[in-house]
Amino acid sequence: MTAHQTHTDITVIGAGPAGTVAAALLQAKGYRVAILERQHFPRFSIGESLLPQCMEFLQEANLLEAVHQAAAEHHFQFKNGAAFVHGERYSDFDFRQKFSAGHGTTYQVQRAPFDHVLAQAVEQQGVPIYWGHSLTHIDLNSGELNTGGPRLTVTTDTGQTYTQQTQFVLDASGFGRVLPRLLGLDRPSRFPVRTSLFTHIEDNIEDNGLNGQPFDRDKIRITVHHQHRDVWFWLIPFAHGRSSLGVVARSDFFDGFSADADERLQQIIQSEPTLTRLLASAQFDTPARELSGYASDVSQLCGEGFALLGNAGEFLDPVFSSGVTIAMKSASLAAAALNRQLQGEKVDWQAEYAMPLRAGVDTFRTFVEAWYDGRFQDIIFSPQQSVEVRAMISSILAGYAWDTANPYVKDSERRINTLVELCRLQLADAAASK
Ligand code: FAD
Repeated sequence: MTAHQTHTDITVIGAGPAGTVAAALLQAKGYRVAILERQHFPRFSIGESLLPQCMEFLQEANLLEAVHQAAAEHHFQFKNGAAFVHGERYSDFDFRQKFSAGHGTTYQVQRAPFDHVLAQAVEQQGVPIYWGHSLTHIDLNSGELNTGGPRLTVTTDTGQTYTQQTQFVLDASGFGRVLPRLLGLDRPSRFPVRTSLFTHIEDNIEDNGLNGQPFDRDKIRITVHHQHRDVWFWLIPFAHGRSSLGVVARSDFFDGFSADADERLQQIIQSEPTLTRLLASAQFDTPARELSGYASDVSQLCGEGFALLGNAGEFLDPVFSSGVTIAMKSASLAAAALNRQLQGEKVDWQAEYAMPLRAGVDTFRTFVEAWYDGRFQDIIFSPQQSVEVRAMISSILAGYAWDTANPYVKDSERRINTLVELCRLQLADAAASK
């Protein structure tokens, strides 16, 4: 679509998962919604392993069927869990064995086709997407007399500039973080600066068992570096023999390796014996990419006439694949609050949007912190584990981080600390009795 609208009820910035889910939900309520998308799809994006909780939001937005229908054509890989490896230790979680109700399976997807499928489905639902249109300026206080709301300046990739009057802006611009930049809302993340180096490979993994450690295409595989517990690798298999492969570490970890990104990735993989064995026949046919300093935060998630969704708000860390889930949850919460507001009700955005969103993000944050300081690893690799507790942890790994009936959601920090003490005691007892 090349022409543009001068007035909307809601303008959504970005056609990633947050933007498309929000737009679909609001379009279904009868509002004039438009999406501005800076790029042209399909386009590459990182964030390929979904969590089952995503399926709930896709269903709510009437987009799930489109994803199922596209799965075979685009090699979306059925996913039912997560497997963790550290040296000889292996622990896997099947998301279908979980505490919370809801979907227990999902997909691993190449984001270029996945995001394109969602965007096309949303267009079919009647939402115009303006491809190659970027939000470049916002005036929050220049509402026209009858409409109120922000006035946006939009620049197209053919060099045109126009203004759009709207009642509300949902910023779903991801790492573009357009409103945090334009409104000065950026705040540093509490996490140290980490870098991720990644690629797609022809994995050629045929073996179903590797020295007693199963390989399961239906699960994301997280390998902890045998010498550095805060360095980890992801292997995200797709359905056609290809996989996404990446390493995450503090940025200074990469200093000791080659300056060339492809060589550097190979060298780091070769420094981890379990991966070297698993990928012995892999073909590295795609240039490696690098992302650094992606953890981000904002001083406020919403204000008069706008809300920040998904990565435009806060981004924690990739280790538990929570990014797309948080993006879709933010879309669901914001759409519900905005619908009430546009119906003339008084909405407290802090209470109805920012706080409930942050509650689940904080659950993930507790788990991410426990991952990097080793507590969570001691828990999952512990030889003695209760089925009930594993089901509670499985729920969070499946994305159900807002289910406060789960004690590991309601009281994450205390529960993790108690459990890790128990696991470490059991380990010490076992060692002493040898
Ligand atoms: P995006 O998907 O980034 O979409 C934003 C869109 O906005 C883009 O299409 C962009 O072109 C557009 N845009 C930007 N600026 C403008 C502008 N000014 N005007 C108009 N349009 C604009 N998450 C997972 O769930 N699973 C994973 O396995 C996973 N792995 C990750 C690995 C790494 C190394 C990193 C860094 C992140 C990972 N994530 C993962 C997180 C995931 O990438 C994001 O959380 C997710 O893509 C956020 O979705 P979104 O809709 O907020 O933004």
